[in-house]
Amino acid sequence: MTTHEHEPLGGKNPTLGQAARAFFTFHSPRIFAVVLPLLVATRVAVGGFTWSDLLVVPILLAVQPFAEWLIHVYILHFKPTRLFGRTFDLQIAKFHRAHHRDPWRLELVFIPRRAGWLGLAMFSAAWFLLAPTPQMALSGVVGSVVAAFLYEWTHYLTHTGYKPKGEFYRRLWRYHRLHHFKNEHYWQGVTTHLGDRILGTMPDHAGVPNSPTCRTLGIEAPTDLPGPP
Ligand SMILES: [Zn+2]
Ligand SMILES: [Zn+2]
Repeated sequence: MTTHEHEPLGGKNPTLGQAARAFFTFHSPRIFAVVLPLLVATRVAVGGFTWSDLLVVPILLAVQPFAEWLIHVYILHFKPTRLFGRTFDLQIAKFHRAHHRDPWRLELVFIPRRAGWLGLAMFSAAWFLLAPTPQMALSGVVGSVVAAFLYEWTHYLTHTGYKPKGEFYRRLWRYHRLHHFKNEHYWQGVTTHLGDRILGTMPDHAGVPNSPTCRTLGIEAPTDLPGPP
């Protein structure tokens, strides 16, 4: 699906159903729609459920705010760096800079493919190394993929013209728009702002200066993208 076909959705005010239907025309949500049921089926087939599987929920609730914050600040906002005479950049940071430059281009909202698979491999490895049983590790992987999917949906929705109705979503929506249009150094969370509250990037927006580098992240020249996200 091209950018052009999605622009009307970003501009007008879709219903939640319209936004959800458009969501599943993009690459990343489609991958989730295949991978997540497969993982759930695998977990059910493996069996051996105990109370430790439920521990995954508080662990994820505790980790997610900091994971979102750290990834956003240090990986997505990573700046090209000169190292041994060569410029070192991260592919995912290139896509995030393009996302800040053009926040209404919806295909740039999602986790890029390479970063998505790499992320899945990394947090799966972490679960299997740290969990006491492989069953709990697999439950952890399922939970992490659910969390990533909720991140994708929330982030996408804040970039559509869907008008917030409930107070919970309205806050997420407002903070993410402040990150894009007021000052990119604050409001780093997407599904939660607990990380911002604890790490000091959640000021009263009235006292925050408008950042001149919201759109560029301080890199003036547009970055050449390495293909589709
Ligand atoms: Zn965004
Ligand atoms: Zn950002």
